[in-house]
Amino acid sequence: MDSQPKGFLEAPVAVERNCSKVSGAVLVYRLSRFGWFSGVLAGRSLEQGFSPSSKTVQRAPSAGWIIARRVLRVIAVFFAQTVTSGTSAEDDNRPLLILPIRCHLGSDCYIQNFVDHDEDPKGASDYNCGERTYDGHNGTDFRLPDLKAASRGVDVLAAAPGRIKAIRDGIQDVSVRVGGDSSVAGKECGNGIIIEHKADWSTQYCHLAKGTIRVRTGDQVSAGDPIGRVGLSGKTEFSHLHFTVRRGNLVVDPFAYGAPPSTCRSGTSLWDPALGRTIDYRDREIINSGFASTAVSMDLIESGEILSRPASPHAPLVAYVRAIGLKPGDVQAIKIEDAEGKQIARYEIPAITTAKAQAFITVGSAQNARPWTGAYTGYYNVRNNGQVTLEKTFKIEIVP
Ligand SMILES: [Zn+2]
Repeated sequence: MDSQPKGFLEAPVAVERNCSKVSGAVLVYRLSRFGWFSGVLAGRSLEQGFSPSSKTVQRAPSAGWIIARRVLRVIAVFFAQTVTSGTSAEDDNRPLLILPIRCHLGSDCYIQNFVDHDEDPKGASDYNCGERTYDGHNGTDFRLPDLKAASRGVDVLAAAPGRIKAIRDGIQDVSVRVGGDSSVAGKECGNGIIIEHKADWSTQYCHLAKGTIRVRTGDQVSAGDPIGRVGLSGKTEFSHLHFTVRRGNLVVDPFAYGAPPSTCRSGTSLWDPALGRTIDYRDREIINSGFASTAVSMDLIESGEILSRPASPHAPLVAYVRAIGLKPGDVQAIKIEDAEGKQIARYEIPAITTAKAQAFITVGSAQNARPWTGAYTGYYNVRNNGQVTLEKTFKIEIVP
């Protein structure tokens, strides 16, 4: 069933941008290194057609070419329908947005990717000048810690009052890794909803779980109304809500409305001030950690299956952490200590050279002559230039 009006499917692609500090090859590595990616990479859109000209200009920067390049950039920006410029900040029927997902940022859900602000045809930059985005990403990804969290049912909420403009349902909840990109061609958003708000503003909600949409086209909704649940439909490999804000056809970063193109740390927030500091930008975050009785893989963490292999007295004792937003130069270390502070195992990953959308680290020890028993502590930290930038302690009590 495919009930949305024509244009809904194309919406995530048509507004995609090509900007970059990272080469395509590196980006592919970064995304595929951990076997997953989000959203709407397909369809490089209108702006790509301008990038070769832009490169030529850079090699021959005569005055004429500089002017031509500027004109081309303006045209490219216009056609690519990118993030809105600062010229529109005076309007103001802008919506006040609540969190579009029923969870607590930083504790049971996390922002994986922000809107890409970088105008260059390579690389990406989020609103805070960080790399918590990828080239052309046109929304905000709110992710859950694993697939099991999604299976328990997490509501997607209307971010502001409005009218349901379009709906699509009926897409299977299955990782795009199973069927490949072609399996979701033209349906990258998966099961989705568009809500139109006053003054030509709209919000779009993607990757919802099949059969969970509880509104119909034309319905009026209030901010906070549940409209569906987080799923795994469309072009995604992890459970998350892809949330896009638009004014007309222009993508707006709700963290930086009015930010001039290719700038960061500017613009204004559209988020309800009641969200307080929960919506603050985080450089790096830990989204999973714990002990297990088996070798840990990214798939075991993402599926949530690792939670069904808890530490036990007569199996290897393994600690693991998955973090997102790691930066070049980050050194990760993890260790296990017993109740007396004696080190059981320790592992350190040398400084990484490129940003990592996500990464995991694990260390373990085979069972000793005696069974594991009592309290054990896991300690993880990230250091950059000698400074601890992220750390977590976690404990377990093993009862024979
Ligand atoms: Zn996304």
